[in-house]
Amino acid sequence: MAELSDDAFLLRRVAFGDSSYIIHALCRHHGRISLMARGARRAKSPFRASLEPLYALRISWHPGRTGMGNLSDVQRGAAMVDGAHSPEALQLCAVAAHLYQEGDPQGFVELQRAFEVLAERPHQAGVLAGVWSLLDDQGLLGPLDHCWQCGEPCEDLAWHAAECRCASCGGGEALSRGLRRSIPAFMQSTRVAMSPADLTAWAGMIQDVLRRHGIRPLNML
Ligand SMILES: [Zn+2]
Repeated sequence: MAELSDDAFLLRRVAFGDSSYIIHALCRHHGRISLMARGARRAKSPFRASLEPLYALRISWHPGRTGMGNLSDVQRGAAMVDGAHSPEALQLCAVAAHLYQEGDPQGFVELQRAFEVLAERPHQAGVLAGVWSLLDDQGLLGPLDHCWQCGEPCEDLAWHAAECRCASCGGGEALSRGLRRSIPAFMQSTRVAMSPADLTAWAGMIQDVLRRHGIRPLNML
């Protein structure tokens, strides 16, 4: 079969056999795929230095007739975030790896957007904003001035079971209006700062959403 090429982000590489990796990548046009990178763990492999997360990669592969394709080339482009943001960016990769499964056509543009959101913001706030962006792109969030159950606009909303809810849909712990305004403002503009109390409350909401969808909570909050 003809060789294919695409822009990609590396999500994961898993050692296979003595010298190879199985890689999981999010590709711009091919979505999430896994490929065999034969010999990639050998000292002289041309893949060795290039197969890194957090870089814009250009990969080529030969699709398998039945099973997994074989990686044939990797070119490493620009880093998506500066080195200081790497731990947070790896967290975004881990969340994306849960949100986008093998065969899903999406994920590349969404992860690229999350990297950009992170790169422009301070660390802790940046990872919250990056994960929020990923969750929002997957349709797991709703507007913070509406009840996510009944869809009605509402002034007094509460946080219950990882959702914004009105009193008639279950209520819960009240969500302050200030927080509900500052989250979208912070997502919109890099000039907006959030108070430490708001950041803590936001982090709790995000962990709730991750847990509800079976995604391991972030380990840095
Ligand atoms: Zn409601």
